[in-house]
Amino acid sequence: MDESESIKAYDIAIIGAGINGCALAYELHKSGQKVIVMDKEGIASGGSGAAGAFINPKISKAGELKKLIEEAYRYSLDFYNENFPKFTTQAPLLHISKYENDNEKVQYFKDSTSLALQEPPTSLLNKLKPHALAYSSVCLKNNAIVEAKEICEAMLTGVDYKKIHLKKPKFINGFWEIDGYKAKKIVLCTGAYEEVFKEDYISLRRIYGQRCEIESSSFMHESVHHEVSISATKKNGCIAIGASHYLDEKDLPSKKQGAQDLILLAQKSIELKDIKIINTFTGMRSGSNDYLPIVGSLIDMQKSLELGPSALKGDKTAFLSFIPNVYMINGVGGYGFVLAPFLAKMMKEFLVEGKALASYLEPKRFYYRYAKKKGSL
Ligand SMILES: Cc1cc2nc3c(=O)[nH]c(=O)nc-3n(C[C@H](O)[C@H](O)[C@H](O)COP(=O)(O)OP(=O)(O)OC[C@H]3O[C@@H](n4cnc5c(N)ncnc54)[C@H](O)[C@@H]3O)c2cc1C
Repeated sequence: MDESESIKAYDIAIIGAGINGCALAYELHKSGQKVIVMDKEGIASGGSGAAGAFINPKISKAGELKKLIEEAYRYSLDFYNENFPKFTTQAPLLHISKYENDNEKVQYFKDSTSLALQEPPTSLLNKLKPHALAYSSVCLKNNAIVEAKEICEAMLTGVDYKKIHLKKPKFINGFWEIDGYKAKKIVLCTGAYEEVFKEDYISLRRIYGQRCEIESSSFMHESVHHEVSISATKKNGCIAIGASHYLDEKDLPSKKQGAQDLILLAQKSIELKDIKIINTFTGMRSGSNDYLPIVGSLIDMQKSLELGPSALKGDKTAFLSFIPNVYMINGVGGYGFVLAPFLAKMMKEFLVEGKALASYLEPKRFYYRYAKKKGSL
């Protein structure tokens, strides 16, 4: 037997065991694909391990992102409740405007949404501080918080997983070879980390953040999002408070200071008694330039420009050359847990059933924009 025959072969290698990689592995495994998940650190060791993780819609005026998140939110609520009820806490959500300027946005959402709303219970209103009562609010009947790490781990049940840092995979005879494994296709779910295939037209922003979990004698039946997000008391008895946003890692306070800051902000909105900090988390979110996720085939920019130079003049039909069988799901920002099950279904339908992806989410939107800019220089 020659060396190549001893290599274990897969249909698909997923790089990154965050919520995007795990949700995709879950979908593909269910549909009979032979899948391996690889992560350089461990399951949910990136942004996903730090997440709240709240499953909520985007409270804003109309727009592509709001529409996508709302569709994903409806899908994901059912998905988590049906498949992972042990790690899912359902609770209504009272969303309160953060600033006076947001009052109008919240009111617009309240008047136009088709999502189920309810009146905030008096027991909750009695706990709110005057600062929270001064702003517009909307109370969503169905919302959830999921246990981030536990859900990622549960999604990988029955799926091969290896701790591998993917650096420079080789494409040989129709297979990508990775540290003693080979796969026909690669899906990159690598979040805000160093890109495996560095392509200049894709630029991902890193947004750092912290959150904490507390024990409190004030039992919460509902979640409240105001200055910060405060979850209903979860099945493990904790309340999750999050999250902060920093564009520069240097600005992150210590974990202890970060937790104290979050608790102070939470207490501006609601009374929480006998607080004990149980856990603190720090992580990175990965954002795209237009705030929409990036889902689809990776373009080889150098080859594409050689074979389709009209892209430099703004031709959006210029020839594209793809890196063979390499795809990505990334740029999900602060909504990774809301979007992941929905995007995983989309990617599964594309890879397994040949269904087209939503073109407004594909990496090629950035390629054409980048090429046009390059051509105008
Ligand atoms: C503090 C905080 C709170 C948040 N709260 C919420 C919330 O309430 N609700 C919500 O929906 N979202 C929330 N988010 C956002 C959410 O966590 C992210 O959107 C989500 O985790 C992104 O998942 P991912 O799988 O794309 O990336 P990640 O979870 O970052 O996973 C990427 C993985 O890829 C691995 N990797 C990278 N490069 C390589 C390589 N070359 N080889 C092998 N492995 C590699 C990394 O080790 C990592 O495990 C929060 C984020 C933070 C930081």
